[in-house]
Amino acid sequence: MRRQRIALICGAILLLLTAGCGEKQPEKAAAPPVRQIPIQETSGSIGDLMVVANPASVEVLVNKRYALPESYEPSDLVFPDVPFTFEERIDKRKMRSEAAHALERLFEGAKQDGIFLAGVSGYRSYDRQKVLFQSYVERDGEQAARRYSAFPGTSEHQTGLAVDVTGSDGRCAAESCFAGTSEAEWLAAHAYEYGFIIRYPKDKEEITGYKYEPWHIRYVGEEMAGEIEEQSTTLDEYYDSVPVSGIRY
Ligand SMILES: [Zn+2]
Repeated sequence: MRRQRIALICGAILLLLTAGCGEKQPEKAAAPPVRQIPIQETSGSIGDLMVVANPASVEVLVNKRYALPESYEPSDLVFPDVPFTFEERIDKRKMRSEAAHALERLFEGAKQDGIFLAGVSGYRSYDRQKVLFQSYVERDGEQAARRYSAFPGTSEHQTGLAVDVTGSDGRCAAESCFAGTSEAEWLAAHAYEYGFIIRYPKDKEEITGYKYEPWHIRYVGEEMAGEIEEQSTTLDEYYDSVPVSGIRY
């Protein structure tokens, strides 16, 4: 009886020792996918500014380091079929075709949620930006002007992919008091669904080089907008191009 029990125990131990010998080694947990950091290609430089090689790409990075060529003018500017805060059919009512249609869908989506928007300013040429920037420098000094206005060639409005948006009553158009309005909150929550991002988010001035602009939306396409939204990041960080503030020219 005792011998039997010992034999049983020995058998069990043997089984335990050999179990798993012929089994496949468990596979290592798959490493999380490494994000391929997109690179902003450049074609030269002007002073400290690098000039982008792909100004017509909807994914182009334009900031205080990366400028558009002085001569760049989009070839497919159209008038989006949305209300603006003014009636004239002038340059600042235009956007590039793909962005214009996305903006139409965004305004329609907002309307479904009871939010009524109006465009304030879309496309702006290099020359127009030059005149505007100079006027701000004369009024507030260069250092202050750089916090809210772009050096010529570095304005996203020259891409035809950016637009300033406000409520249909036109109050607080491109002003700090737009922050916290139901229109601003709707944009912050839904712009990415239509391929737009809030380009200069709150508390990101050190990265973007601009104070918070809840009204300035930039079209980058739905895929990139979704990724930027998911990562709660900025276009500058997405391209690993940070920080851009404090840059001198
Ligand atoms: Zn703007």
